[in-house]
Amino acid sequence: MAEKELEIVDLHVSVEGQEILKGLNLEVEKGAVEVIMGPNGSGKSTLAHTIMGHPKYQITSGKILFRGEDITHLKPYERARKGLFLAFQYPHEVEGVPLGRFLWRAASVIREADTERDIPDNPGAFNEVLRKGLEALQLDKSFRSRDLNLGFSGGEKKRAEIVQMLALKPRLAVLDEIDSGLDIDSIKLVASAIERYRNGASFLIITHYQRILDYVKPDRIHVMIDGQVVLSGGPELARELEEKGYEWLREKRG
Ligand code: ADP
Ligand code: MG
Repeated sequence: MAEKELEIVDLHVSVEGQEILKGLNLEVEKGAVEVIMGPNGSGKSTLAHTIMGHPKYQITSGKILFRGEDITHLKPYERARKGLFLAFQYPHEVEGVPLGRFLWRAASVIREADTERDIPDNPGAFNEVLRKGLEALQLDKSFRSRDLNLGFSGGEKKRAEIVQMLALKPRLAVLDEIDSGLDIDSIKLVASAIERYRNGASFLIITHYQRILDYVKPDRIHVMIDGQVVLSGGPELARELEEKGYEWLREKRG
């Protein structure tokens, strides 16, 4: 049986007193690219933030296992050390924190917690990783010393999230609408970075459009409606959803 990297069991999550995830079940296999699609407001970003441990998202019942370990109540930095990574749908601008310094600090902590992840332990070698990452995403090397996301265009923010992924070497990367707001050339850059990083890592890609799936080959597609995964299937499901929309799936909610 395939090894599970992530297992979410009957998860209920509230935001500011309102239940958004309503008994969600999901598994991500080790080494797989699994995709979540679903209409606006179905709770996809809520799920992404909850997996990463954002304190605003309150887990009222259910559990999250990562590599067999219950992480339901861990802090975000503890999850990051264990190998979780989230690329935000809306990356925050952080004034006064240059991208390069931010990543070096984050990578150092992760390296100490998890020596298997092959993160360089000297600034020169780490800078080389960062340089290659920026180059792969066609971001100028000056981005290394620019404040995190500050004044970046929408597309630059998204590409910078992937640079972060390449530098931090997560075991499971959750990418929340990494393709939205990107032109087709940028989507190809992001997709090829994902494909190259893919070896051994697992992905949970949240997307609205099947477009990125022309370049990143998914293993499974999950459809989320109103706080639950209502249907899972193979790659062909993405195209079917693009044609048929989501309305026909509403009756499948439990
Ligand atoms: P999706 O990513 O699928 O579009 P979201 O998870 O962003 O859906 O939102 C699901 C629902 O939860 C929406 O009704 C949204 O208004 C609400 N919600 C999500 N995050 C917050 C938040 N931080 N504060 C208040 N409401 C939120
Ligand atoms: Mg969202």
